[in-house]
Parts: sequence; structure tokens; C-alpha cells
Amino acid sequence: MSHQPLGLYIHVPFCTVKCSYCDFNSYAGIDDMQAGWEQAALKELSLWAPRLSGREVSTIFIGGGTPSLLPGESIERLLNSIRSAMRLAPDAEITLEANPESVHPDRLAAYRDAGVNRISMGVQSLDSSELVFLDRIHSAGRAEEAFAEIRAAGFDNVNLDLIYGLPGQSLATWQSTLNQVLCWSGDGPDHISCYALTVEEGTPLAARVASGRVIEADPDHVAEIADWTADRLAAAGFEQYETSNYTRRGLKCRHNLIYWRNQEYAAIGPGAHGFIDGVRFHVVRSPKAYIDRLRDATASLEGEQGLPSPAIAGAERVGELENIVDTLTSGLRLMEGVDETSLPPAYQELRPVLDWAVKNALAQRQAGRLRLTKRGHEIANEIFVRLLAPTTP
Ligand code: SF4
Repeated sequence: MSHQPLGLYIHVPFCTVKCSYCDFNSYAGIDDMQAGWEQAALKELSLWAPRLSGREVSTIFIGGGTPSLLPGESIERLLNSIRSAMRLAPDAEITLEANPESVHPDRLAAYRDAGVNRISMGVQSLDSSELVFLDRIHSAGRAEEAFAEIRAAGFDNVNLDLIYGLPGQSLATWQSTLNQVLCWSGDGPDHISCYALTVEEGTPLAARVASGRVIEADPDHVAEIADWTADRLAAAGFEQYETSNYTRRGLKCRHNLIYWRNQEYAAIGPGAHGFIDGVRFHVVRSPKAYIDRLRDATASLEGEQGLPSPAIAGAERVGELENIVDTLTSGLRLMEGVDETSLPPAYQELRPVLDWAVKNALAQRQAGRLRLTKRGHEIANEIFVRLLAPTTP
């Protein structure tokens, strides 16, 4: 039996509007599929349960999409079904993603009663013109109010997502956003994720950039904002434990640590990605196809690679070297780095790249662990590209 933590990701595909920069598998205008999605998700959980028997689920992440659009009873039914069919750790971290406009005191109370103990809210910005640019439908005032409602409902582990490096964003505008959230309800959130805006292929934002209507921010300016952010959050008592993630009181996101440490997680819901027993897989993206595939599913209808859900649209066994590359490219994003001594012998094939990184002060070795330096974190993608093509150290 594996003693590593096991995560469970549940994907909720509903959103009120589609944001201009978003390439997640989320859709506006399909709320009439909520009941069908819930039935399918409950069925998929029941199909996974025998496969996960004997393993304890340490974390659940209900992500999206906008899970806070779901009624409390829906979350309660999902979590009850997990509790009755699987072994859920008594201290499991159970996160639900929320957006300010759909947060509501009654619903928050129901989520809490159902067992949710961590809320992650997408705020992104408190500047009204930036919110419009991103197609966010909440105001700064509503976001602050929603945070107060989350605290009032008794959540003492709350993350806020923010985005910096928007076209035309000044350092002062970003400073104003971050300084404000740090004072919300007295002493602000417990965890903050600060992501640099990336222009994802196929999004409305990418089309605007391609047509010249939007000019991307200058990388040096974005780096300046990132530096200020790290200093400001350190001064406010936050520990940076990953490239974009900061926490207080040691409240790291245990579910995301499973991803970064290349550990295992089951995944259900349209478009969800999982990694279990050495196999990476993804569930069919279309919510309609997801519901259809699970409607009449039985345990005898397996998905790819013998996985238990017929909604799985692709699955691949990860080779040994590929798995080591995954461990390095995700683990080196963490300040704790990677335990080199635990890597299998095939690691020697990649060692020249990491020796090169150490020689150029991009990484350092200490007590068997390999960590990126500040400069290494700044150009991490360059190191990762070399790991993917190890003949060019
Ligand atoms: S709310 Fe989140 S998931 Fe939904 S469209 Fe916007 S960024 Fe994407």
C-alpha cells in the first residue's frame, strides 16, 4: 500500500461568463446541465471507489469553473458519497474554488457543514479598469464583501488568486491591489497565489494580442512587479513556498503540493487530469459528452489503460525518465526543491543539465536536496526546456 498522500480533483465546468484570458475547461450558459453533471460525477465517484480502496484520500479540490455556483446540497451529496465509498482522512484538506459574485452566506454555511474547510477565491485585481479588461464581473467592493462573508462563515484557511503583469499595469496599481487585500477583514487572507498573466492560445485575449489591439507587458516590468511582491509579502509575514504561492501560519495548499511533488491524484469531471498508478489520464472535455458517457456506465465498462471510468478520453503510462523529468520540473518550482538522493538511477542521464545549472548559480545543492536560486526561479523555464532535451546542457 502506498503511504504517499492521495488527492482527488473534482472539475466543475460552470461559469457565469467566460473571462477573456481563460483557457480552463469552463463554459457560460450551460447551467441547465448542473443536475446532469452532478449525477455523472456521483456515478464516476462510485466507479473510482473500488480502485482507491485501501488508500486514504488526503485532499479534495473542487475546482473549475466556478464551484461556488453550485448549491450547498450538491456539494454535500458529493462529499457524503466520497465519505461513504472511500477512505477520507479525518484531517483531509477540502478546498472549494469560489468567485466573489457567486459567494453567498447561506451557501457558504452549507459548504462548511458539508465538510469544506478551505476556500480559494478568484479576485485577480481590485482596479476597475483591469477587472473590465479581464471580463471579471465583480467589483472590488463585492470581492471584499465576499471575503468578509467567507470569514463570517467560519473559514480560517482562505486563499486569494491575483493576477499581475496586465498590459499597461503600473507598479502602483498592483501595489494598491495587493496592499488592500492584505488588510481585508483586519489581517487579510491566509494564502495568496500571485500569477503573472499568460496569453493562452485560443483565448479572446490571444486574438487581441495577435491583432495588435493589446500589447503585452514588458518582461522586465513584470519581473520588477514580481520582486516587489515577494518583498511585500515577506514583510507581511508570508512564506513563499512556490514560484507563485505564499502562505502564513504554514497553511500551504496540501492538494497543490501533491501536484508539485509529482504524487498521485484521482480526477473526475469533464476535462479533469489525473495521475494514478503510474498512468496520466484526462477525462473527456465536453460536459455533454461527459454526462452521456456516464449515464449508463457500469463497472464493467472500463476506460483507457484499465482505469475505472468510461469518461476517460486518454491515458498513458509514464516512462521512468519522463517521470523523473516531471518530478524535477514540478518540484523545482517549490522552494524546498527536490530530494536528489530519492531519484532512480536513470536520473544520471539528466545530471549534466543540473550540474550546468549549479555551475551557473541557477541551482544549489545542500544536504541531498537540489533547489533553484532566485535567478534560477526567474529563468526556470529555460532550465526545464533543457531537462526535456538533456543532450543540450
Ligand atoms: S471565472 Fe475562472 S474558470 Fe471561469 S471563465 Fe473566469 S477565469 Fe475561467
